[in-house]
Amino acid sequence: MNPNQPSVVVNDTPYRWPLRPVVVVCVDGGDPSYLQQYLADGSVSNIARFISQGFAGVADGSMPSFTCPNNMSLITGTPTARHGISGNYYLDTATWQPVVMTGPELLRGDTIIARFAAAGAKVVSITAKDKLRKQLAKGLDVSQGHVSFSSEFADRCTLAENGIENVLELVGMDKPGMYSMELSLLVLEAGLKLLQQRRPDLLYLSLTDWVQHKWAPQEEDARAFYRKLDDVFGRLAACDVTLALTADHGMSDKSNAAGEPNVIWLQDILDARFGAGETVVICPITDAFVAHHGALGGFVRVWSRGKVSAQQIIQHIVSIDGIELALDKATACRMFDLPADREADVAVVSRHDVCIGASAVNHDLTGLKGNRLRTHGGTSETKVPFILNRPLNDAYKAKAASQPLKSWQLFDYAINGTL
Ligand SMILES: [Zn+2]
Repeated sequence: MNPNQPSVVVNDTPYRWPLRPVVVVCVDGGDPSYLQQYLADGSVSNIARFISQGFAGVADGSMPSFTCPNNMSLITGTPTARHGISGNYYLDTATWQPVVMTGPELLRGDTIIARFAAAGAKVVSITAKDKLRKQLAKGLDVSQGHVSFSSEFADRCTLAENGIENVLELVGMDKPGMYSMELSLLVLEAGLKLLQQRRPDLLYLSLTDWVQHKWAPQEEDARAFYRKLDDVFGRLAACDVTLALTADHGMSDKSNAAGEPNVIWLQDILDARFGAGETVVICPITDAFVAHHGALGGFVRVWSRGKVSAQQIIQHIVSIDGIELALDKATACRMFDLPADREADVAVVSRHDVCIGASAVNHDLTGLKGNRLRTHGGTSETKVPFILNRPLNDAYKAKAASQPLKSWQLFDYAINGTL
């Protein structure tokens, strides 16, 4: 690291050269309620120390409160309107086919790590689920000593594709299952090993929310997971780094007293009113691994095939119990800072205790058996922790006091705002 290096400008934000390694961790689904519980009962002593010695707040994440939009907000340092990744899926109205939004070509602007890498820094990006890997590493040339891989495919990393091989041997862990807490822990342990061995300048470590979907803060398995996170965070912080912790989104219980999910089947409702095929409901939470939430979230998009107007759709659904907001495109883009060219005719947000699906027949809920549905996507899951292990400098103290804290500013605070 060379403190005489010039600052690096990424998407119009200048970042100074890091004085020490900066480690940004996105605890997927890390609702503030988990930390509230574990700080109160003394389960996370390292995080408690960061909060007392560094800086901590609760920030606004990006809407919709899903994994892809928020990871891209963090890694680009911009809101969703600018980076363009507004869900896991959008509907291409030229073909009327849903398009998965995980391709790097769909991400607008640069990532902070790729720009630093191009300026001579060494960077590492590790994610639990492979779906995020390529976007996180957009523009990153791993042949130059940088690392980018997912714990999902930790057993098949190559120097050519990932800038690293033999990850499981390096970390001393078995290949974790897709539905396990080890999938996240491997991300952190690998980041720690690389920090100790190579001391890169920037590390971005992104976990998965299987635990938070499955267990509420008061449940012992969730506490066990957070104890393990806290332990690795302590070991990371001991390496003389700036450690920044946040989440991509929160998590809410969306089940009724009998333990069944409170679902509004929106496609069925719209088909009954306007006829099958007139509207298309897209659930942008969907990915290949849905056993823990059945592709049910708190935010969906509705496109009209042309006959039905946005106002007709809104009028028909806005008073349904459990619908919090039904917004036309312009209003949704203005309220939530979304890219208009990928927004639907109507954006729908459910209340904190309710989720929205498309057609009941198309959602497989067998994976939920025996568990309450906990999920995210709406405005009730946008609040996320924003924690730094080091105190803010005076300029960023003033900034934090004078404007709302946005999670997409976390790299800015960690790199430019700490002592
Ligand atoms: Zn997530």
